[in-house]
Amino acid sequence: MAAGARLIFLGPPGAGKGTQAEELANWMEVPHISTGESLRSAIAAKTPLGQQAEGYVSQGELVPDELLVNLIRDRLEQSEAERGWILDGFPRTLSQAHFLESLLSELAQSVDYVINLEVPDEVLVKRLLDRGRQDDTEETIRRRLQVYRQQTMPLIDFYHRGENFHSIDGDRPPEEVTVALQSLLESK
Ligand code: AMP
Repeated sequence: MAAGARLIFLGPPGAGKGTQAEELANWMEVPHISTGESLRSAIAAKTPLGQQAEGYVSQGELVPDELLVNLIRDRLEQSEAERGWILDGFPRTLSQAHFLESLLSELAQSVDYVINLEVPDEVLVKRLLDRGRQDDTEETIRRRLQVYRQQTMPLIDFYHRGENFHSIDGDRPPEEVTVALQSLLESK
């Protein structure tokens, strides 16, 4: 059942995680927790977190774990997260995945769906260039894809043993991807 579900979105930059996570969060009426969005707001507002994160984000590097763990803990402990949540862009490393596991066991919560959005590399680069976000220069895109392969792809192995792991074809119009995700969530 979709109501109250807890989801993790995996997938490379440009796969459509943000778009789909936002759609589903509205549909499920649960918070959409995007570490990338939180960092961008912190950077814009020049908070201490933003100032520490800015250099990493602008170069396509991952920010150090310690900058994110409190952010995730705070969001998951908020009362609105009791109804479920969608994590978009976290975890991105094995150590973040381990942190999340221990946090969730502390909070007596578990993950219902791990969704891997699959999109071929050449489509990703084109989409990212078209998107034109501040950290979407050609050089940064190349670096983000490399970082994804080195540090985030191992999470697929980590999660895919579980029966809640689902790969979804993200190389089609966004509305079709949303429908595929909704049917998945309705099928259980
Ligand atoms: P996103 O919006 O998910 O593409 O994230 C944008 C940028 O924020 C990334 O390229 C990283 O610099 C940083 N970031 C977001 N989530 C994480 C994370 N879980 N761990 C480390 N850095 C992150």
